[in-house]
Amino acid sequence: MENEANELKFPGFPYIPYSIQMDFMKALYRSLDKGGVSMLESPTGTGKTLSIICSSLQWVHDQRQKERDRAKAELDRNQSQRDDVEIGSDDEPDWMRNFVANKEVQKQEKKVKKKFGLGKSNERKNQDAEIIPLVLEEEDFHAKKDEVGLNDEEFLLEDYESEDEVTLGSGKSKRKAGACLVSSSSDEEEEKDGSDEEEEKELKIYFCSRTHSQLSQFIKELRKTSFTNEIKVVCLGSRKNFCINEDVLKLGNATRINERCLELQKSRKNEVSKIKNIGVKGRLRRTKASSGCPMLRKHKPQRQFRDEISQLGALDIEDLVQLGRSMGTCPYYGSRSMVPAADLVVLPYQSLLSKSSREFLGLNLKNSIVIIDEAHNLADSLLSMHDAKITFLELDHVHSLIEKYFGRFRNLLGPGNRRYIQTLMVVTWALLQTLCSDKDFSLVNTCQDEGRAAEVKPMFDSSIAINDFLFSLNIDNINLVKLLQYIKESNFIHKVSGYGEKVTNLQKHSVLNNSGACGEEWSTLSSFRALVDMLVSLTNNDGEGRIIISKSRPTCSGRQGGFLKYVMLTGEKVFSEIVDEAHAVILAGGTLQPIEETRERLFPWLPPSQLHFFSCSHIVPPESILPIAISRGPSGQLFDFSYSSRSSLKMIEELGLLLCNLVAVVPEGIVVFFSSFEYEGKVYDAWKTSGILERIMKKKRIFREPRRNPEVELVLREYKETIDGLSTRPKDVAAHSGAILLAVVGGKISEGINFSDGMGRCIVMVGLPYPNPSDIELIERVKYIESLGESNSMKTPKISVSDEYFSGDVQVAFSVLRSCKRRGKEYYENLCMKAVNQSIGRAIRHIKDYAAILLVDARYASDSSKRSFSHQTNKLPQWIKDRLVPTTNSYGEVHRLLHQFFKFNKKGE
Ligand code: SF4
Repeated sequence: MENEANELKFPGFPYIPYSIQMDFMKALYRSLDKGGVSMLESPTGTGKTLSIICSSLQWVHDQRQKERDRAKAELDRNQSQRDDVEIGSDDEPDWMRNFVANKEVQKQEKKVKKKFGLGKSNERKNQDAEIIPLVLEEEDFHAKKDEVGLNDEEFLLEDYESEDEVTLGSGKSKRKAGACLVSSSSDEEEEKDGSDEEEEKELKIYFCSRTHSQLSQFIKELRKTSFTNEIKVVCLGSRKNFCINEDVLKLGNATRINERCLELQKSRKNEVSKIKNIGVKGRLRRTKASSGCPMLRKHKPQRQFRDEISQLGALDIEDLVQLGRSMGTCPYYGSRSMVPAADLVVLPYQSLLSKSSREFLGLNLKNSIVIIDEAHNLADSLLSMHDAKITFLELDHVHSLIEKYFGRFRNLLGPGNRRYIQTLMVVTWALLQTLCSDKDFSLVNTCQDEGRAAEVKPMFDSSIAINDFLFSLNIDNINLVKLLQYIKESNFIHKVSGYGEKVTNLQKHSVLNNSGACGEEWSTLSSFRALVDMLVSLTNNDGEGRIIISKSRPTCSGRQGGFLKYVMLTGEKVFSEIVDEAHAVILAGGTLQPIEETRERLFPWLPPSQLHFFSCSHIVPPESILPIAISRGPSGQLFDFSYSSRSSLKMIEELGLLLCNLVAVVPEGIVVFFSSFEYEGKVYDAWKTSGILERIMKKKRIFREPRRNPEVELVLREYKETIDGLSTRPKDVAAHSGAILLAVVGGKISEGINFSDGMGRCIVMVGLPYPNPSDIELIERVKYIESLGESNSMKTPKISVSDEYFSGDVQVAFSVLRSCKRRGKEYYENLCMKAVNQSIGRAIRHIKDYAAILLVDARYASDSSKRSFSHQTNKLPQWIKDRLVPTTNSYGEVHRLLHQFFKFNKKGE
């Protein structure tokens, strides 16, 4: 079927689509036709995911059909040319005629076959070879054995040509023994196993979302469509999600799992390398593998794993893990190797948005379709992915290790190595001093507690531009790019950390213990990675980010804390790398407003003709939603949950009275969102003391969102069981009429849990959840965004707002915010309203759903005829804004509206 412009059809859609779903699919299809960047908004619960799948895959299907038609036409043309040649060249011998005429045809056929993967699927390279992730060059090791103990040899660095001898970019270790990259992402430290690569599909869709469960949801939706059997799909995730080696998995923490996996492979490589050395006539002699991960030891199961995936259709991470377990082969590497052959790659944000991750995974975005779901916070997510942080303890650890190493091998190292190691020591020492030396306080703003003794120094946060930072440490003349290159090419980190480990073991005293870090989840490798990440950040352009210096007072034992953090402020460079490569980039989400802010922060360079926006309304009829702005409680008390007045016990009590009334009128489940765990705790305690809690509990059971993620599931299950139990309970049994869940904006519940039907008949938003103004990173972003559009902000951000010293003091933060006149202020407000929209969007998940949404604060209320453009409620999604009751005269009116609403909708059930 040919999809023509005005007659788009989506036969893969498993149901009869609603008109808004049709509109959405058409908009996406046309966006893909046009290319560039598109922002497509569709409220949650409207079948957005299914629409994305059916539209984008239909587009790919149609493109391929067009390509095939074109190729066929070309072949036919060539065939007729060949016929012409045959007819017109009678005097040439047959073989000559065929050769000349066939040459073009063969070229074309080859192209067509390559494009559609014909004649290639059964080709396998190195079928019986054992998997050897890294080929190592083992040459004679010319260490000075007489000077170095035999056991220390392995830690000696190969000679490195210094910066004087080679030009930048070509510094070389003379021997590439076990060379390992150290990239900015902890996941990317290894070379690709290129032994068994599949044919790369030229037109590919990359679908990414934020969480593991969102990706699983995507796969579930994909399975509902006919595409599931037609395309090759692969789901990527972290080692933590995929690992099936119990010994590694029990380490728990993602960084440790990554490192252990890499270590296993490294030891595997070393094993292979040694075997290679002793093999006869250069042939690899196999022995019983004694190292490496057993799940990656054999090549054949990996290949079978891929074959299985191809046959089983769309599998999510759990399915892949299960398959890996049943086959005894690693699903992490198995799924990774499927990427080239896949038509659709489903992956988390981090894997797609970070360049180093893309390179590591071998993701080729050229001419591809990139779909980024849940893109409402894309700019901030992308920036936080590129932050870098190193703690005092990590710095101290690497510095002392390098010192020890240098002390041991100094006389054996060549001049290149010596120079770079000394430079590295200068840099780590300088960074260390920033966190522990009083004299540096003056360099980065004035300490408010300057007069106090070091022993009682409070937390001290400050920020500084990159160039000023380097200058203040007197390391501005050091070429960090070359230094990083040296670290990368010389295998420095593994040599030094290997030596450090050995010394530690010998001394039987962990270096961690010595530095007082016992029990903390960090290691030598992760400390080095943190250092490299920080150095990479320091090579960024001056205006692209800020350095946060967070000092903390030493503990009684003298242990020093604190950290350095690089905060990226602009994502336009990172995002442009994706847009430049891909054919089209789609940002999808329930609500993507404000569009202009996203454009300015991520793609200000994009011409308007290349940016497309589409928004569709909600699937449910207007009478299924009742949003009300509530400014007064049942006893007439004004609701003002602003920072200065939210602690008022009178108001907290009034909120309790509101809840007491709501439980009488709202059936089943009520979800109440607070701005923070602290505030929720304060309100809960106050209600307990005043007896309000008891009154509420007579009607509904109360649940509270726990701080710890693993416990959330348990609470949610009980909450759901309480509500589900209502329908099965005999009528004469007196019990609760439902449940209340006290949740927190920004917590797990507000972001990823859906409250359809009885789970969320009423969502109560308490106050306006502005982010914590004392967060120094937030204030830096606000200042940066305020400067956007004033000048060429990428190069020289012009900060027009207060740039005074900031140490996390709330009042100072407010003064910075007050000094913002435009974008900065808008950004801060948008953060708040995005959080509101996320939370209230948890209800209404399908066409028959209904819910009331109560916005409890006088600041939400307004006279709609006079409501200014910048009013908070203007930032609500259109489908809520359209139905909002902007003001009420009294709580009595609210109660009446709720009563009517639930009566009406109950009837329709
Ligand atoms: S190779 Fe796979 S199973 Fe083995 S440790 Fe690494 S991630 Fe885990």
